[in-house]
Amino acid sequence: MRGMRCPYCRANDDKVVDSRGADGDSSIRRRRECLACGRRYTTYERVEDVPLLVAKRSGESEPFDAAKLRKGIERAASGRLDDHAIDDAVAAIEEELRELGGEVPSERVGMAVLERLRALDAVAYLRFASVYKGFEDLADFEREVGELQKTTAPKHR
Ligand SMILES: [Zn+2]
Repeated sequence: MRGMRCPYCRANDDKVVDSRGADGDSSIRRRRECLACGRRYTTYERVEDVPLLVAKRSGESEPFDAAKLRKGIERAASGRLDDHAIDDAVAAIEEELRELGGEVPSERVGMAVLERLRALDAVAYLRFASVYKGFEDLADFEREVGELQKTTAPKHR
């Protein structure tokens, strides 16, 4: 969530250095560092106070659905990532989207998934990209593989 004011200097520019669930995860505790004065402070946000909405291309918005996101990732990551890695990815993506604030465009959700999968597994990434970006032929696929080779160094798992 943006718009937190530094309690020391009132600047509206901070970065989150740590966040974790509190009160049985009904709230989120964040350690923030003010980018203006460098001091750190803690905020608590109640999860239900910060509804995350996804704005669809049609202009409508719907509540963020972590289960739906997980299904999409599961499909792409089948046989490539274990449950734990998928859980972590879903949690990290949700966290990232919540950082953006109340309503995020659906394309941003797709991009967040792509970024995450690209870092985790090239095959899962390409599967997700082929659905998400609507690859129509081999050329689309080859272009994406080319991009992938440019941006990721070979990794060992
Ligand atoms: Zn400050």
